[in-house]
Amino acid sequence: MSYDSNKVDRLSELISSFVCHASSHLPDDVNTRLAQMREVETEGFAPAIYNVMAKNMEMADELGRPSCQDTGIPQFFVRVGTGWPFLNEIEPSLIEAIKKATVRAPLRHNAVEVFDEYNTGSNIGHKVPWIDWELVQDSDELELFFYMAGGGCSLPGMAKVLMPLEGYDGIARAVFDQMTTYGVNACPPGLVGIGIAGSAEVAAKLSKKALLRPVGSHNPNLKAAQMEKDIEEGLNSIGLGPGGFGGRMSVMGVNIEQAARHPATLAVGMSTACWAHRRAGIRIHPDMSYDFFTHKGVTL
Ligand code: SF4
Repeated sequence: MSYDSNKVDRLSELISSFVCHASSHLPDDVNTRLAQMREVETEGFAPAIYNVMAKNMEMADELGRPSCQDTGIPQFFVRVGTGWPFLNEIEPSLIEAIKKATVRAPLRHNAVEVFDEYNTGSNIGHKVPWIDWELVQDSDELELFFYMAGGGCSLPGMAKVLMPLEGYDGIARAVFDQMTTYGVNACPPGLVGIGIAGSAEVAAKLSKKALLRPVGSHNPNLKAAQMEKDIEEGLNSIGLGPGGFGGRMSVMGVNIEQAARHPATLAVGMSTACWAHRRAGIRIHPDMSYDFFTHKGVTL
């Protein structure tokens, strides 16, 4: 692939700063939600755990260091306008940005090559960083979401295809089975993303995209929004609490995304984010000015 190395330098510098900031600062919506949840928990270990989380974030900011030792597998979700002028430069810039951020942040080396079983030592590997692409008509902007997919928060993930007669109860059952078995691994309180579709891979991908939506937002379909509220209420009753030490609330929220399904299948996918939900979104214009919309007021 041919690309302009000067443009790759400019873009990768900006994206590397964006990644470094995301590694040590939670997005605004997550900070707001954690502060609200901290108010609700008054008994047992829960208040102390929330205090430790707040102190952890304060120190990450003060020391300019990642907020968790597990900086995850780097994942980018790209929405690129058909009028964006530097299409060839995006992928090399993302790879270069991760190389730079791995040294600067620093990010723990997490890319282990499957079958060859060695750690690449750079967070670059076969299809890592993971890049998901979407084209946007009539736009000349590049919108990027960056997500650090940690080990613990990825563990409860699953996708399966149900018989349609299992219905929406079957979807809820699959989510509750996972959360009551593996939810504690995802350092609660996390965000639960659910994808509903006709096949496993679409449901899985949608469940991850659901995690990119703000905490507290709701699906525009009223029935889906109701299901988000019902599952959230149910998951809060399982009592995981912050850090899994017990408490009144176990999740920050539940986000559902859906695609029309095949008449004979009902697929469910689930992805979980932990309390340190390091998800960051930026919109970059062709002149390289930007809007860091998940972390307001931050200059990179
Ligand atoms: S689940 Fe999240 S907070 Fe817990 S160790 Fe993994 S990345 Fe860190």
